[in-house]
Amino acid sequence: MSAFVCSTCGTQYPPTEVPPGACLICTDERQFVPASGQSWTTLEGLRNAHTNKFRRLATGLTTIETTPAFGIGQRAILARTPAGNVLWDCIALIDDATIDLLKGVGGVTALAISHPHYYTTMVEWSRALGGVPIYLHAADREWVMQADPAMQFWEGDTKPIGRGLTLVRLGGHFDGGTILHWADWNEGRGVVLSGDILQVVPSGHVSFMWSYPNLIPLAAAKVKRMAEILEPFAFDAVYGAFSGRGQIDTNGKQVVAASVERYIARISET
Ligand SMILES: [Zn+2]
Ligand SMILES: [Zn+2]
Repeated sequence: MSAFVCSTCGTQYPPTEVPPGACLICTDERQFVPASGQSWTTLEGLRNAHTNKFRRLATGLTTIETTPAFGIGQRAILARTPAGNVLWDCIALIDDATIDLLKGVGGVTALAISHPHYYTTMVEWSRALGGVPIYLHAADREWVMQADPAMQFWEGDTKPIGRGLTLVRLGGHFDGGTILHWADWNEGRGVVLSGDILQVVPSGHVSFMWSYPNLIPLAAAKVKRMAEILEPFAFDAVYGAFSGRGQIDTNGKQVVAASVERYIARISET
């Protein structure tokens, strides 16, 4: 039996003799099945053809990315906080080198994931790191393909996971779409790790979509609501799910407000 991993999105399924008939993440309109059809790999297959690279993103923040790129191509971000190391978002490839390096910097106290596109092999990560909790928003529970006791489904709009660390459910791209706010980051400047929920774009703004690959936008009212939920939180930097597609190192609060304003103005045009 193998725990098959979707080659397009990196989602791992429970062990079976033959691959699943379809990937439920990719048949959803927020992803896609490539024209060449559904294909599958395994963690062993991935380990043979890819490695992970680590990069310092900013103070206290280290990215973990797979090379050559695999699946959606997102990064995980290790947030090294006084309340413990939190692995924000997840990627499909987990190997011995990655585990050794994470243990070498003190291990990981929790995983937290912005939305189902990045659930990938989260159960493998949690187990390899000692069964650490995986924080997921309950509104996206239907997208979990492999249940595990480590999963902690939370409800409502905010969930503190350590001193100065708050998961904030903004919704939008997914009903449970979550960002991680680290209030004390970098001498109190504050940072938002935004996944695809606030999508950092090359112009140094953020933008919003219900489906990114299929270019289906979010309604103005939804984006307005997202901004309202985020309003109480102060932050200077915003880091999204992708390297090389823009980052916001300063004035994040103002940049997000301006981005929301320009998005709503354009999408409300008649
Ligand atoms: Zn898939
Ligand atoms: Zn996504």
